[in-house]
Amino acid sequence: MTPARPPARPAPAPEPDPTTDQANKDAMSSPTTVSPASSASTASTLITNIAALVTNDPSLGSPLGLIQDAAVVIDGERIAWTGDQSKAPATDNRVDAGGRAVIPGFVDSHSHLVFAGDRTQEFNARMSGRPYSAGGIRTTVAATRAASDEELEANLTRYLAEALRQGTTTFETKSGYGLTVADEARALRIAAAQTAEVTYLGAHIVPPDHADDPAGYVALVTGEMLDACAPYARWIDVFCEKGAFDGDQARAILTAGKAKGLHPRVHANQLSYGPGVQLAVELDAASADHCTHLTDADVDALANSRTVATLLPGAEFSTRAEWPDARRLLDAGVTVALSTDCNPGSSFTSSVPFCVALAVRDMGMTPDEAVWSATAGGARALRRDDIGRLTPGAYADLTLLDAPSHVHLAYRPGVPLVSGVWRRGVRVV
Ligand SMILES: [Zn+2]
Repeated sequence: MTPARPPARPAPAPEPDPTTDQANKDAMSSPTTVSPASSASTASTLITNIAALVTNDPSLGSPLGLIQDAAVVIDGERIAWTGDQSKAPATDNRVDAGGRAVIPGFVDSHSHLVFAGDRTQEFNARMSGRPYSAGGIRTTVAATRAASDEELEANLTRYLAEALRQGTTTFETKSGYGLTVADEARALRIAAAQTAEVTYLGAHIVPPDHADDPAGYVALVTGEMLDACAPYARWIDVFCEKGAFDGDQARAILTAGKAKGLHPRVHANQLSYGPGVQLAVELDAASADHCTHLTDADVDALANSRTVATLLPGAEFSTRAEWPDARRLLDAGVTVALSTDCNPGSSFTSSVPFCVALAVRDMGMTPDEAVWSATAGGARALRRDDIGRLTPGAYADLTLLDAPSHVHLAYRPGVPLVSGVWRRGVRVV
């Protein structure tokens, strides 16, 4: 398990530095940048003294592609080399990881971060066993419509910074709290300024102003609203659920999106059994998200497709609902991703490490599987092969843990273990 790959280009030998020597003597010492990291993304950087490196390169003998006593070379914004630290090539800069673990940056493939307002009272009532009669998603829709662009942008960037500090280097986010042509297009325009993974979710719920005319709302979502939103989005999504959109409506919405060049993903089988998963597979959706209530036929369909099952345990945690059965999916051969579903109503966490811990404790995943699903699995759910892995050619998106192993993400739940984050080769945390 010591792959020796050539660096992308030759680099001068690093200057010896006493700081490095000292850091090497102190196991688990603070990571030390010996030479100043360049933000110009042209220099090469060696990160060495990594106790455990998760590459997600299956050719190394396991899905996680784990390398011990490892090093990584970053060249510009890409990974140039990984392997045994004793074989690392020379670079411009050098970072001592202090005997810590390094994993790919988390790929959070499902969030709802363009919103305004707060639903603390709703959560408090639910967790206190009291009835709560306010409008759920409708509450957030009203607050989002009333907010200025600046408020929505500030909210989004605040939660992105929060996620980044917890190791998330790629995120997907959706519209779905505007539900008018102008408000949906605005949400997507604001999201597109922050990420390439933008999803049009005009079909989140039928808004109160169309309560008596759901067919008219579907016509809007597949017509004028789609035309206004498609330029900002890569994906189209629908909440296929009792009380939201049925199978026929969901099929019409996703098919219209595909015709406009948007690729499908589906909120499927969250609250009840239904047609969402089968529809996702039929339309080659990148992901069926939630997957809490599945028949054997649903599991078989996922296993025989390239549609990823994205599990969102923050939602079950925050609503005291039944956990999705990750073990059943994995044993059937389904590709599983883990994501936060960060939203102000049913899962107000931006923490992928928290979701990893829940998946291990309550959903039957091993720590290795959960870390894979939160990195490589998320990348699969976004049909990306340039993220979610630390192999030559991939983006240098990586997270340094204040722990000797990735297992600590589940072993030490709730502890802020992320001590460094690089995105596109630049250290940002
Ligand atoms: Zn969602």
